[in-house]
Amino acid sequence: MYSKSKELFNKSSKLFPGGVNSPVRAFKSVGSSPIFFKKSQGAYLYDVDGNEYIDYVGSWGPMICGHGHSKVIEAIQQVAEKGISFGACHEYEIHLAEIITKLMPNIEMLRFVNSGTEACMAVARLARAYTKRPKILKFNGCYHGHFDSFLVQAGSGVATMSLPDSPGVPSELAELTLTANYNNLEEVEKCFEQNPNSIAAIMVEPVVGNSGCLLPQNGFLEGLRNICNKYGALLIFDEVMTGFRVAKGGAQERFNVSPDLTTLGKIVGGGLPVGAYGGKKEIMEMIAPSGPVYQAGTLSGNPLGMVAGATTLNLIQEEGFYENLELYGEKLETGIKQIMIDKEVPVTINRCGAMLSVFFTDQKEVYNFPTAKTSDTNRFAKFFNELLKNGIYLPPSQFEAWFFSSIHSKNEIEKTLNAIEAAQF
Ligand SMILES: *Cc1c(COP(=O)(O)O)cnc(C)c1O
Repeated sequence: MYSKSKELFNKSSKLFPGGVNSPVRAFKSVGSSPIFFKKSQGAYLYDVDGNEYIDYVGSWGPMICGHGHSKVIEAIQQVAEKGISFGACHEYEIHLAEIITKLMPNIEMLRFVNSGTEACMAVARLARAYTKRPKILKFNGCYHGHFDSFLVQAGSGVATMSLPDSPGVPSELAELTLTANYNNLEEVEKCFEQNPNSIAAIMVEPVVGNSGCLLPQNGFLEGLRNICNKYGALLIFDEVMTGFRVAKGGAQERFNVSPDLTTLGKIVGGGLPVGAYGGKKEIMEMIAPSGPVYQAGTLSGNPLGMVAGATTLNLIQEEGFYENLELYGEKLETGIKQIMIDKEVPVTINRCGAMLSVFFTDQKEVYNFPTAKTSDTNRFAKFFNELLKNGIYLPPSQFEAWFFSSIHSKNEIEKTLNAIEAAQF
């Protein structure tokens, strides 16, 4: 059933380390080898062996309107005919920036880059320059891209591969990254007490996706805001995953907490490689050429990415978009819960809008990386492979969030629940 995929994986293994261009694609933690795809449409993926899947990865988030949305494709085609890259100023970057600043009023000024990693990297430099402090506090199990400073206790990809830290990151640099457990304000406060004048910023996924889906407990994000105010540090929300997913204005809107700086990626490019960072004008004006903090990009603000992003961000503003995601998210969540009860499989399901994780654990609450890690990853691997066989494509790791789109409807949810019911795991 996967013979062509296997053949292609043999070829790609000779060309790419581990056969892939991003580690989690290798399916290592679920003990199988990757599927090669040839087509995607709506809620579905099609592989090279002719199998069809309902997609719960959505290219790791960007495809919130489903694959191949006609308006997105049309916009890309029209702009491609006029120019694929100018490497210079054009109007499409203004269009996208205007939409972003409208949807996220905390972003007064921004800069486009080409990935989430790049956005996080730039924002770390900016926070250090603005506060004249060297340290960054992050949370155990949060991922902020593969930049050296953030490859400390970095969640999913790294956890799945059992690489607690990456070789090649100088310890002198890693020492500048402090870590605390998500949802633990006391640990955060303690870090600041021990380093009152040297922490530039708290960097956080306001809803975590990279330990699986973890929600902020009541008062956690507000608590971070207060601690930052008290110690003169910046609060940075990494909304690369949550931006435009958990609400039209991201987690900062959903939980009503204002960060100083925000990083974006994934949905902001509608499936093309776009990232962005932005926030208070006073801070952003430190970026070159208006200020001394250097950051640049040959292809940044690429016209194709800008229109794919702008079209997607116009689609999410349609009436009822998030209400629908919530509705189907709830159907999926309650459906899975009931099946697991019937099957007597202990699970904890965390969900925030169209972002969900099923943790195979008997912990009643999964609220940080240590509790997520109590999950039975062997059972997850069985579950994953059984569902794959039955045409359901989940993220290939216990520690990733499932994503669905506005195009996943009753039919897809029912098929998914039926497949889970029929599966042995
Ligand atoms: C995906 C992700 C990143 C990295 O973005 P890339 O585009 O993969 O470089 C950073 N932060 C969060 C929260 C992410 O989910």
